[in-house]
Amino acid sequence: MIERRIYLDYAATTPVDARVVEAMRPYWDEHFGNPSSVHAFGQAAEAALEGARERLAARLGCAPAEILFTSGGTESDNLAIRGVALAAQARRCARHVLTTPVEHPAVLNACAYLRRHHGFEVEHLHVDGFGVVDPETVAAALRPDTALVSVICGNNEIGTINPVADIAAVCRSRGVPLHTDAVQAAAWLSVSPADLGADLISIGAHKFYGPKGVGALYCRAEVDLIPVQPGGEQEGGRRAGTQNVPLIVGLARAFEIADDERHERSEHARALRDRVIDGVLSAVDGARLTGHPAHRLPNHASFVLPGVEANRLLAALDLAGFACSSGSACKTGDPSPSSVLLALGLTPDEALGSLRVTVGRSTEPSDIEAFLDTLPRLVATQRRLTVPAA
Ligand SMILES: *Cc1c(COP(=O)(O)O)cnc(C)c1O
Repeated sequence: MIERRIYLDYAATTPVDARVVEAMRPYWDEHFGNPSSVHAFGQAAEAALEGARERLAARLGCAPAEILFTSGGTESDNLAIRGVALAAQARRCARHVLTTPVEHPAVLNACAYLRRHHGFEVEHLHVDGFGVVDPETVAAALRPDTALVSVICGNNEIGTINPVADIAAVCRSRGVPLHTDAVQAAAWLSVSPADLGADLISIGAHKFYGPKGVGALYCRAEVDLIPVQPGGEQEGGRRAGTQNVPLIVGLARAFEIADDERHERSEHARALRDRVIDGVLSAVDGARLTGHPAHRLPNHASFVLPGVEANRLLAALDLAGFACSSGSACKTGDPSPSSVLLALGLTPDEALGSLRVTVGRSTEPSDIEAFLDTLPRLVATQRRLTVPAA
């Protein structure tokens, strides 16, 4: 009998903060107007929308006009990558895109789309065994026809934090815009343009206790970006479609709270995460940490456990009341090894045994102890069931 389900998958998504629910409440039915309408109903919605934009801009230290609201992290990544690459192709015949093999599928597939449908050459920068991109590697790979560089900030699968500011300095000196997917990082680090140095920064609300289905893209004023979705003139003509006012208000509120509580949240998470890492490495034979041991998101622990098949272990953990992941939520049910883990140099067999444990605001030390009490037994059962390869 499961007494309480324990959620250890905060990198996949987070519950919406009650203060965020409260902030969104008036904008479903009371102030329901279309922000593009001229009348008072529209004006009230527009005031809420522009207020949210100003509050987010104030936290990021940028101009309100540099913020574009989107339907989430995936769309922010797509708008940045396709919008900038296609603008550079039209303006200066650029046809080269630099990215990494450890990106979220939103970035990997936006780049693949440019290759397949727009004739771009997509080059994947070398990463080290921790998934870190060296700024020198970026410097050596930049070309006159490079449209854009895209490097993930905080890795969703392995937790590694990249030296985005150093990479940005390299790109800036060569006049090539840098995009960073900060969707996972925004809950934990300052993702302001001043701190990251990037020209384009993607965030998504549901990774920091905001609602799903809303994100934002910071786009530096000087960067040329064409809309990838034709339609109306919303968002300065760069992202068509009536804005989702309640969700946007929720994103801005969730970001403010995350910014205010960043320090406490990180301290709380870090202690629990370190206990997970120590506990798993000492209790599970052959377990290895994936991603960087120090430069990693404070709530993120990820491993490979030899002789274990991730999907089976996740199912057994779920039966025992623990919600974990093997990497990206998008990979659940897919038995092929993660390309991110292969890029770190792991073998396909090793990569199949991945486990990701991500803690959050409501995680308690007793949750972690319960998890560490259960995991070794489940791993041992899995290993007995798995016939060793000949
Ligand atoms: C969750 C996530 C995304 C996708 O964001 P959605 O809002 O779910 O579309 C993109 N990149 C990273 C690093 C993520 O963690």
